[in-house]
Amino acid sequence: MRSLFLALLDRENPRGHPLLAALLYAWCPAAARWWLAGADPVLAYDPVWSALTDRAQGLTLFDVLKSHGLENLKDAVKTYIAEVEVFRRLHPALTAPETLPFFPGRLTPENQFNLTDPVRTKFGGDWKNLFRYVRTWVFTLEDWQRKLEVDAGSVIFEAVRLALPARAMRKNIYLPAWRWREKEKDREALGLLGDGEHVDQLLLSVVRSASPVGAAWLDTPEMYTLDGARGLLDIADVRLGKDAGQDLATRLGKLAETGPWPPLPALRRAPQCNDCGFRALCLNGSGRLTPQALAFETLAVSSTQITLEI
Ligand code: SF4
Repeated sequence: MRSLFLALLDRENPRGHPLLAALLYAWCPAAARWWLAGADPVLAYDPVWSALTDRAQGLTLFDVLKSHGLENLKDAVKTYIAEVEVFRRLHPALTAPETLPFFPGRLTPENQFNLTDPVRTKFGGDWKNLFRYVRTWVFTLEDWQRKLEVDAGSVIFEAVRLALPARAMRKNIYLPAWRWREKEKDREALGLLGDGEHVDQLLLSVVRSASPVGAAWLDTPEMYTLDGARGLLDIADVRLGKDAGQDLATRLGKLAETGPWPPLPALRRAPQCNDCGFRALCLNGSGRLTPQALAFETLAVSSTQITLEI
């Protein structure tokens, strides 16, 4: 969950804050353990988050390509966009058909040649990330806005830093998210990117009481979960009331302190481990659980281990 990992790296969020520890423990007990033991998550490049960040800053796609030294890819990117548009018209019943294996659009080997370094440094070393970045910018955001029924010409799309209240503490924690504002309609929508289309219920419950840092809500915001891979957007189905959410957070915060911290997602080979910032601590290069991940009854992890594994 990108937003949660970014919250861990936000130096205004104290390590060990019970609410953040509880949110992390709910997502994965082992992740809470690594963080409490002093490890910082190591985040891989995320083309979806990166494209949304750049677009929310008011940049244009081709300005970004130019700033990355990829201006000679402009025609190839235009061709890719045109191919996706055609493919979508051919398959109107499918969601994001360009993500399916039979989509023919690809960057030619000639375009890839000599562009290895910019892609390695700016797009996480993977050509597919360039396509994911462009697709998010051009199509995914438009898919979401169509479902929101906002006027793309007048709506403001921006990054928002949320202050999440913790019942037991005066100190809020901060979490990044996305929002759309339609000033003329006093309408506001808050979007949370999940693991696929799933956002943890505890997080949804706490975010419901959150306020934005800076510009206040125009009105009570609508809350949505976003799937960056397929362009899905759904009304957040919050199944924990505010008080129940805070009760649960208090209890999970205590568990995060005392453990145990089993690496449950790794044990069931859950996809969330693929994007986890603590993956190197739980799984070795062959995908086997590390001895320290299996010693999940103890919090103490030497800094040597953390440094070596990361
Ligand atoms: S790699 Fe998997 S088990 Fe380990 S902390 Fe991350 S999500 Fe949890």
